[in-house]
Amino acid sequence: SFLIVIFLVITSLMSIVSQIGPWPGALPQDLVAIDLAAKLRLDSHATALVSTDFGGLTQVAPAAVFYPSSPHDIAVLVQFSYSSSRPFTVAPRGHGHSIRGQAFAPDGVVIDMPSLGRGRADRIIVHSDDSSFRYVDAGGEQLWIDVLHAALEHGLSPPSWTDYLYLTVGGTLSNAGVSGQAFRHGPQISNVYELDVITGKGEMVTCSRDYNSELFYAVLGGLGQFGIITRARIALEPAPQRVRWVRLIYDDFGAFTRDQERLIAISASWESKKKGGGFDYVEGSVLAADGSPIGSWRSSSFAGWDAERIARLGAQHGVIYCLEGAMYYDSVRASRSWVVVDEELELLLEELSFVPGFAFTNDVSYERFLDRVHDGELKLRSMGLWDVPHPWLNIFLPKSGIQDFNSGVFKKILKHNESTGPILFYPLNKNKWDERMSSVIPDEEIFYSIGLLWSAIMDDWEYLENLNMEIIQFCDQKGIKYKQYLPHYLSQEDWMKHFGPRWDKFVEMKRKYDPKALLSPGQKIFTTSL
Ligand code: FAD
Repeated sequence: SFLIVIFLVITSLMSIVSQIGPWPGALPQDLVAIDLAAKLRLDSHATALVSTDFGGLTQVAPAAVFYPSSPHDIAVLVQFSYSSSRPFTVAPRGHGHSIRGQAFAPDGVVIDMPSLGRGRADRIIVHSDDSSFRYVDAGGEQLWIDVLHAALEHGLSPPSWTDYLYLTVGGTLSNAGVSGQAFRHGPQISNVYELDVITGKGEMVTCSRDYNSELFYAVLGGLGQFGIITRARIALEPAPQRVRWVRLIYDDFGAFTRDQERLIAISASWESKKKGGGFDYVEGSVLAADGSPIGSWRSSSFAGWDAERIARLGAQHGVIYCLEGAMYYDSVRASRSWVVVDEELELLLEELSFVPGFAFTNDVSYERFLDRVHDGELKLRSMGLWDVPHPWLNIFLPKSGIQDFNSGVFKKILKHNESTGPILFYPLNKNKWDERMSSVIPDEEIFYSIGLLWSAIMDDWEYLENLNMEIIQFCDQKGIKYKQYLPHYLSQEDWMKHFGPRWDKFVEMKRKYDPKALLSPGQKIFTTSL
């Protein structure tokens, strides 16, 4: 009977192997014996789908793709790898909107996070009964657009956003999540109460500022290095109904940045809170003077935008800038109803130094405002310009470096690159970031978020990469102490420089929560066990 049992085990293993395809040498053979083997796919169709990302710059296939039905499935897989004599790496993939393969798992297993139930009602639960503590419990795999829709059904909304909402909760919380609301509410990571996390040992841990706080702080902004986020408890506040949304054009960099900084300071001051609060959102950009769709896809939905007149102004001055602000209001809000929003906006604009006659105002629903980039996406998709390589460079620049950056980068290095993509430029304040979290920012109270969002439509991504390199070299030569956002480095030495004095803590957390360096290997921070 012993021989019969052995025979049955072998034949059932062979049958599983034949269902899922030839076994890759990189994975331990005994993986097929665990209950979850049926949720693994090894075929090239499955692996090809996760071997590229939004950046489109590299292509690396994993050995397998895992489709979990529950967080428990993920824990079992990670535990298996952790205790195996041949551990393999594991990368959660949210929506694959990384630029440089951060969600890849070469020779390892990519976890298809949407399989947990993207958009499923039981994975986005809004808690609205207690008006002093309202929040949403959202699965790490959920897209922010779905979180928004669920919250709006209760008249609520998370306060802090990214510009684009087709990104996952786990993906943005692993970086920071910044947009024009961050000056007031902090990045998305500053608006999280609690997380469910699966560590690199396969342990399922609930953590917050009060319990397992070390893991909580490490995971937020932690580039996927300490745990897989399967649930985040995110703060909610009453959602406004409408947004008065303005774009103001500047020909002078000093006036542009002074006004941006003034606006983020006004909005925090007591005097303005009394009146209604100044702008709820402040961003800015350097304009593509030629008005091409690729250069301005983020502005495509702005009614009244006079591209021709703006282009003429651009031709006159070489480089021009656009300050973008938004005031939330509604019909019931005592602090800012539709009756006072016009008056308040007018008073605010009177204090600003944009080029006279170059103020453009829109009025849209709150949902339309938050989902504004999607319009640009649909437009580019229809022209076949969305799925092209995106060699983006995102940096946080200390305020002390912005004048040099303007004259050396915007006015020289990028002088002839009008059509290659939007260039974002807006201030953030350090006091809204929690230094215990893993994200790294410059060491100055005001710093600027700069996004060079290139699209390589002419198959010119190497040229754009060289531009990025030139910009980085320029900052290094000038001694500007910038930090990369959505960072990408190839050597551990560069990672050490990136983290600076916080590197030791980062390594200590890695040793504690993922000592075999199994998680998110595509970040290329740790390549061996610690
Ligand atoms: P993926 O690319 O799938 O993963 C990113 C990293 O996080 C990988 O290392 C992955 O292993 C890890 N990861 C994924 N899910 C989890 C999880 N559940 N737990 C732990 N680790 C996980 N960022 C901003 O801050 N502000 C913006 O306004 C903004 N706009 C963007 C607009 C576009 C068009 C694009 C393409 C990107 C934008 N980003 C922005 C950047 C974006 O926030 C990051 O690239 C983010 O990581 C993408 O989320 P994703 O779900 O696609 O992550």
